[in-house]
Amino acid sequence: MSDEIYITPSDVLEYLYCPRFIYFGWILKIPQHEENRFKVMEGREIHEKKAFQNTDYLRIKLGVVNKENEVWMSAPPFHLKGKVDEVLFLSDGTAAPLDYKYAEWKGHIYANYRAQSILYGLLIKENYQREVNCGYIVYTRSKNHLVEMPIKREDFQKALLILKDILVIIQNEKFPKKTKWSSRCLDCCYKNICVK
Ligand code: SF4
Repeated sequence: MSDEIYITPSDVLEYLYCPRFIYFGWILKIPQHEENRFKVMEGREIHEKKAFQNTDYLRIKLGVVNKENEVWMSAPPFHLKGKVDEVLFLSDGTAAPLDYKYAEWKGHIYANYRAQSILYGLLIKENYQREVNCGYIVYTRSKNHLVEMPIKREDFQKALLILKDILVIIQNEKFPKKTKWSSRCLDCCYKNICVK
């Protein structure tokens, strides 16, 4: 069964919110409802992305020499799959993910966005055999403000550990520890069935 398991960036965001989301969703197959903030944002983002994406535009100032749009990729060794808005190929031989966000730029990159970009970077490294040293995020609600996010080797290592942990929950049907932040339980869609 483990060969068929593919974790998505959405799964990772859920895990980072609370590891038990993986157990309830994957093992008990209890779907989340409208409160599922990750899926709701995805829907909005898809709409926005279509409006802002310019499929032919090359960001020359960033050193982009080529790009591919909306690339579905999987990385079997990591049990990871996902779709990257843009894969940028840079003049120094490296590659980078670019992700459109239906969000305003507030001066710092949220942990969720960082995590997604790192996972996209992993997919790119695995599929294109290119070095990935950074990711780009476009904030569509701040006039398409573009932010560059460095990605270090430790970031990839941390992401691999998270993927491994998620895989263990799924494969071993392991009931994980709850989130460290008890305030998250207050409006959680699983709070009535979650053993505290
Ligand atoms: S109730 Fe709390 S511990 Fe349980 S799944 Fe929700 S956030 Fe996690």
